[in-house]
Amino acid sequence: MESILEGIDRFQKSVFPKRREAFEALGGGQQPKILLVTCSDSRIDPSMFTQTDPGEIFAVRNAGNLVAPHSAAPSAEAATIEYGIEALGIPDIVVCGHTHCGAMAALGQRGSADGLPSVKAWIETSTASLDRCDEVSGFDDDLTRLVAANVCQQLEHLRGHPSVAKGLEAGTLRLHGWVYDFERGDVYACDENGSFSKV
Ligand SMILES: [Zn+2]
Repeated sequence: MESILEGIDRFQKSVFPKRREAFEALGGGQQPKILLVTCSDSRIDPSMFTQTDPGEIFAVRNAGNLVAPHSAAPSAEAATIEYGIEALGIPDIVVCGHTHCGAMAALGQRGSADGLPSVKAWIETSTASLDRCDEVSGFDDDLTRLVAANVCQQLEHLRGHPSVAKGLEAGTLRLHGWVYDFERGDVYACDENGSFSKV
């Protein structure tokens, strides 16, 4: 924790003063370019690998970058997606999985999350991802193929959310699936056939 507090101090003394005007301008509102659904994993830093600034990425983060199928139950993901599309008018949603994803490893190994009931219940909203691994291409190892299959599964879940369906129907919204390889700095994007290739 100490290094984190030291970081705040450094930010306030060295970084913020140089960009004060940009930060103050953010007080006028936000117009993010994308809505990014990605994993909580600490190794994923979206603003770093996309080289974006505060105000550009509206984010949903959770274990496994999941969007549960739409339902009437309250959902942080559904609320954030609805707000991003309806209130902020974001034109692009990106679901971004990543290499070495612990949530996907747990999904792929039945029983491995039995001691973590909340994790187990959450990742099981995406068991359908396990059946899609043969539908994706571009990756050699089983875990990354599951990560990619899961990205495609979440895109399908997204299409069932009313605000997403409306945006797609109106042609004002596009969906994208990515896999981020943090060891190499590579980002792979999928086409409509589930084939992933480097951006
Ligand atoms: Zn992950």
